[in-house]
Amino acid sequence: MPTGLDTETLNMVVSAINDFAAQRLPADLLRQLDHEDACPEDVLRDMYGPQFGVHLLFIPEAYGGMGGGAHDVYRVSEAIARVDLGVASAVLATFLGLDPIVVGGTPEQREKWMSRVAEEGLLVAYGVTEPTAGSDLAASRTRADPVHEDGQLIGYRLNGNKQFITNGSIADLYTVLAVAPGGFTFFIIEKGAEGFHPEKPEDKHGIRISDTAPLTLEDVFVPVENVVGGVEGQGMVQATEVFGYTRLMVAAFGLGAGMKAIEIATEYAKERVQAGAPLIEKQAYTHKLLVPHLVRLEASRAYIEETARRIDAGEAALNTEGAIAKLVATEAGNAAADAAIQALGGYGYMKEYEVEKIRRDVRITTIYEGTSEIMEWTIGRDRWRDNLQQRGQYYARVAPSVEALHAAAPDVGADVAALAMRALHVLVEHARVQRLTRNQHVLFRLGEWVAAVEVAAAFTRYAADPREKVSPFPPDVVKVMSRLYAREAGALLACDGLRWIYGADETADLAQLSAAMNLPALQAAQRGLVDDMDHVAAALRDISFV
Ligand SMILES: Cc1cc2nc3c(=O)[nH]c(=O)nc-3n(C[C@H](O)[C@H](O)[C@H](O)COP(=O)(O)OP(=O)(O)OC[C@H]3O[C@@H](n4cnc5c(N)ncnc54)[C@H](O)[C@@H]3O)c2cc1C
Repeated sequence: MPTGLDTETLNMVVSAINDFAAQRLPADLLRQLDHEDACPEDVLRDMYGPQFGVHLLFIPEAYGGMGGGAHDVYRVSEAIARVDLGVASAVLATFLGLDPIVVGGTPEQREKWMSRVAEEGLLVAYGVTEPTAGSDLAASRTRADPVHEDGQLIGYRLNGNKQFITNGSIADLYTVLAVAPGGFTFFIIEKGAEGFHPEKPEDKHGIRISDTAPLTLEDVFVPVENVVGGVEGQGMVQATEVFGYTRLMVAAFGLGAGMKAIEIATEYAKERVQAGAPLIEKQAYTHKLLVPHLVRLEASRAYIEETARRIDAGEAALNTEGAIAKLVATEAGNAAADAAIQALGGYGYMKEYEVEKIRRDVRITTIYEGTSEIMEWTIGRDRWRDNLQQRGQYYARVAPSVEALHAAAPDVGADVAALAMRALHVLVEHARVQRLTRNQHVLFRLGEWVAAVEVAAAFTRYAADPREKVSPFPPDVVKVMSRLYAREAGALLACDGLRWIYGADETADLAQLSAAMNLPALQAAQRGLVDDMDHVAAALRDISFV
């Protein structure tokens, strides 16, 4: 049976978040806190308090939580991100901080710490990054030296520095990664432990409401019962095991923040008259600043939903999918927020109109929980491996299901998504045979193309699915958006894909490669593009986001 809340309970949680935000985090207060670079610790503690208890969503029912699933976490993350990404980051930190215990803790540790977090509403921090170890965690230097008494291991002394830790100076509980003799290991440390010093919080570009601080560990004694899992050397596995889940959460941040920015821009464009008509009626405005961003955000939503449901249905790990969701949704959220400033002109540049803050805040989403480049690498590497395991047939085997969808639902762009997938198959195979991924850039670009094509395919499934959607757009508009996204994926393969493969292989026969990719069909698939964009722009005029 899928895990998670029933729809009614989930909707109640989302509306409770909106009510709480309206009361405790109104827009003018958020602007003031952002200006003053102040973390509203009292509000965070109330969010975790007995009246609200947002953290309970992440905690299994057995330990006093609500036992939310991945789909619930996505919806709640999106809702909080729409309010403020700094607050969302504080909640993410608790989720991340608990993760090593959830996936790797002993039954006693789970019982003890999750029950305490549930009951006491403890703020948690996740201490992994170091000054010399960001994307490359293997370079971590924080040491954990065993302490023996009467020949018996009683604990460890930790020494080192952690960098950029969310909730760093306010948390009650920390999970900290350190190198023990047996390898990377997570340790549970409580606030106030001797030798454990949170430093002055950072002065940041965005999410200024979130507390981000370095940690210094000087001979911090951690008792042996606080070694997560009870044995050394499990840290890296524990850190990576739930990437599918945690990256989905950050993907939902990109989606929520990006949607909010475009909604503000859309409402503005309905009111703002230039050259005799509201901006929303100007095609060059909507087709550059609003429609493409909405399409990418809705495509991200489709992919996040599909991945969340797969996780809730019990599929293992899904780390590649988590990376795809994070890459696509956070890049879409960033581009959308940037376009929203442009869409408001000079007003967009002023703090009063909110999009300026969203733009600064959403910037973090392509950096933390793995940068976009690390996502590209992860995706490229994983599908490269999958393709090798399937003797170069990975996408050739998936494409027929997308083609079959087109036969059943001819209006969602599945034919174009399938064309893009078959072109991807050709490019991946060419790269394999010619060993082009010895160029790191080609492997990373491959990750980007894989993401676009897999999201396009997921979007067509979502658009064709008759079930009710979370999307604010009616089903016919979602179908148009799905066609638009499939065309975008096709254009990416036809232009960028060919560009880099050909650019990396001087011996390639361009005519043969183009024919194998079915380039004329990919180009012809752009027919109807402007009409479809007109359709979405018209729908935008009818939708109210206020
Ligand atoms: C506001 C904020 C909150 C954070 N919260 C937490 C937290 O709670 N807990 C925690 O542990 N960490 C946290 N982090 C750290 C965050 O996860 C790291 O900043 C991130 O993983 C990147 O590491 P780095 O900053 O060292 O950059 P680097 O790893 O040095 O990367 C710099 C650039 O190089 C690129 N790059 C890196 N490696 C490669 C490669 N092999 N090939 C090509 N390009 C590469 C990156 O994509 C990036 O563009 C936070 C960071 C910030 C800014």
